[in-house]
Amino acid sequence: MIKNKKLLIAGNWKMNGFKKNLSVISLLIKYIKLKKLKSSEILICPPNTLIDSFSNLAKRSKLLIGAQNCSENETGAFTGEVSPSMLKDSGAQAVILGHSERREHQEESNKLIHAKAKNSLKNDLLTIVCVGESLIQKKNQNTLRVIGEQLKKSLPDKINPNNLVIAYEPIWAIGSGLIPDNADIYKVHSFISNKLNSRYGNKSKKIKILYGGSVNKKNASSILSIKYVDGALVGGASLKFSDFKAILDFCN
Ligand code: PEP
Repeated sequence: MIKNKKLLIAGNWKMNGFKKNLSVISLLIKYIKLKKLKSSEILICPPNTLIDSFSNLAKRSKLLIGAQNCSENETGAFTGEVSPSMLKDSGAQAVILGHSERREHQEESNKLIHAKAKNSLKNDLLTIVCVGESLIQKKNQNTLRVIGEQLKKSLPDKINPNNLVIAYEPIWAIGSGLIPDNADIYKVHSFISNKLNSRYGNKSKKIKILYGGSVNKKNASSILSIKYVDGALVGGASLKFSDFKAILDFCN
């Protein structure tokens, strides 16, 4: 059990999940109820098609439901897009933005992520902005420079610190089973914390910084114990109840 930390554990389901996966959410809701979480928060971000049914199931529980992307626009002629207010309308309370898969496959820029973050914060969604370096950037010792730039350009000036979360996700650690050593995680998280502090002052203390990339039941306790790590963004291990539960067992 990680004591004295208000952790946020977020599950990113990516493009996985059908209505038949409702049982995972039901098990999770039962588990959260029995566990009587004192301060930690748990969030599941399924594909948009499941937000409505998941949030209905989670209505009277402490489980939060979120999305994996939103539009930078409010409403109108933007085929295929979904705005933060529409996500809220279907029951979402949070959104993940700037995931490296979207930065890569949809070519999302820091500028676009900035506009999306601004819109989602304006709509009071818990806004998780992802940052992280590629393997080449790491090998060239550019990790802090890349992350500094992503933070500077992706985050809006006007924020509600209660609704902003940063997720540090080294791209090479996502889905690979590889993770940075604890000293490297500490180094990046303290760097992010300092950057947030110089930009937002005292407010920044409320901004959670999550680690993401191959978090599982074996490494979760050690990662979550690192100073400046306020939780985890979990991909693969959030899809199966027993795997996710084993990580949640460390929460208070
Ligand atoms: C992710 O894609 O956000 C992620 C952390 O994935 P995984 O846990 O599977 O590495």
